[in-house]
Amino acid sequence: MAGAVSSRGCQKIRGSQIRDLIDSKHSVLFDCDGVIWNGEKVVAGATEVVSLLKRRGKNVFFVTNNCTRPREKYVQKFSRLGFADVAQEEIFSSAYCSALYLRDVAKVQEGKVFVIGGDGVYEELRDAGVPFVEGDVDDSGMTIVDCPLEADVKAVLVGYDDKLSFLKLAKACCYLQNGECLFLATDPDPWHLLREGRVTPGSGSLTAALETATGRKATVIGKPSRFMFECIASQFGVDPAQSLMVGDRLETDILFGANCGMETLLTLTGVSTLQEAQGYKDSDAPDKKDYVPDYVVDSIADFLPLLEDDD
Ligand SMILES: [Mg+2]
Repeated sequence: MAGAVSSRGCQKIRGSQIRDLIDSKHSVLFDCDGVIWNGEKVVAGATEVVSLLKRRGKNVFFVTNNCTRPREKYVQKFSRLGFADVAQEEIFSSAYCSALYLRDVAKVQEGKVFVIGGDGVYEELRDAGVPFVEGDVDDSGMTIVDCPLEADVKAVLVGYDDKLSFLKLAKACCYLQNGECLFLATDPDPWHLLREGRVTPGSGSLTAALETATGRKATVIGKPSRFMFECIASQFGVDPAQSLMVGDRLETDILFGANCGMETLLTLTGVSTLQEAQGYKDSDAPDKKDYVPDYVVDSIADFLPLLEDDD
C-alpha cells in the first residue's frame, strides 16, 4: 500500500506503484502550468488522465498560483485544450482564493482593496463583491507627490502585473504606511518560464519590492500557504490524508502539499528537476525536507496505462 512507503522519499514510481497510490486516494489536486499544460500546449495524455480519474470516482481539483485569468477563462482554456469535463467549481486559482480571503476572512467590504494585478484579479474581486481600486487608472503626467490617493484603502493585494509602473508601487507603499492596511500577495512565484528561454518576473518579485520598501511581510494566499486547501476543504470536505498533490515546482506545489498534510508527487514536465529534489533530500537543513516530494514521475501521462488497464 502506498501509505506504507517511507514519507518524503523522492521515490520514482511506475506501474503498480502508481496504481496503488491512486487507489489509496479520494482526491487528486493538480497544479496547471508545467503539469497539465505548458502555456497553450497540453501535456500529452493529460486530458485522458483527468477523464479517467473522474470516471474512477476521484475528486479532481486544479490549484494554480497563476492569477492572470478568472476561473471562467480557465474553463475556456481547459475546453480549448481538449478537457471535456472540467467545471469552474473544480478550479482554485490564487486570484479566486484572494477574493474569498478578502471577503470572508479579512471582511473588507467597508473599504477598498488597492490592486496590483490584472483582469484575473479584478474579475474575481468583482464576482465576490469586494470593492477595489484598479492600480491602472490614468495618472499620466502625475507623480507620487501630486497623484490622488483613496481615503479608505483597507488592503493592498499584489499579483502578477505586466503593466506594473513605478507610480503603482509608490501608491502601494503609501497605503501600506498605515499599519492597519492589510498586505496580501496572490502567490510567491519568483519567475515564470516563457517560450524560447525567455522568463518573466512573477508576483513574488513584485511583492519583494514592496516588502523591502515598507519593511513589512505580505500574507501569501496561494501555494505554499494552506489557505487554498482550506477553500477546497470547506467547499468539498476533502481529507488531506486521502488527497494527492501533483505539481512541478518544489518550493510552491510540493511544500503546499506538505503544509496541508497531503502526500506529494513531482512531475518532471515543468520547472523543477529530479536533481533539485534530490538536493533537498540530501540537504542537512531540516526546513528543506518539506520541499522533497514523496513520489516522482516523468509525466502525469505515466498514470495512463494503469487507469486504462482497469477500465
Ligand atoms: Mg506549475
